[in-house]
Amino acid sequence: MTKEKKIGIYAGSFDPFTFGHLNIIERASKLFDEVIVLVAINTSKKTLFTPEERLDLVRMSVSHIENIRLDVLEDGLVAHYYQEVGASALIRGLRNATDFDYEFSIASANALQGDTIETVILYAADEYRFMSSSLIKEIAYFDGDVSRMVPKHIDGKMKEKYNN
Ligand code: ADP
Repeated sequence: MTKEKKIGIYAGSFDPFTFGHLNIIERASKLFDEVIVLVAINTSKKTLFTPEERLDLVRMSVSHIENIRLDVLEDGLVAHYYQEVGASALIRGLRNATDFDYEFSIASANALQGDTIETVILYAADEYRFMSSSLIKEIAYFDGDVSRMVPKHIDGKMKEKYNN
């Protein structure tokens, strides 16, 4: 019997990609045969980086991990993408109680799209619990130090965007 390849999908806005996201991907890559990092176009969020820029910035950040595939979800639901690629689980990161309510509703809504849609939650490591893309953007906007929160190339790109 050939073993079915277990694919996990880690979807997010990644605006920008942070060390917190990277930690989740590194851990998920040990649990799944392949992890697809899916840059989602969230219609309700105005983003600092375009989808293509976000994809490039993620690519540069995960080159040390072998079993990773990158994609952009141009339109449509993550749940449909999941079914198309035959994934085994959606991967999400959980930092705190505020995340919990949001993540719980997303997981429930996704489960209603198909009864095989499973969500696996990885708890944020202590050192990344406070990191969020929005907080990082606010700090970078005011020319603060985000070097311990994002990879170097992303720090540079944020400085360019904000003309710092
Ligand atoms: P979305 O807009 O879909 O919430 P994000 O890019 O903000 O996308 O986050 C993608 C996923 O990563 C979410 O499950 C989020 O909770 C999780 N995440 C974000 N920051 C961290 C962090 N510092 N540590 C662990 N998980 C995180």
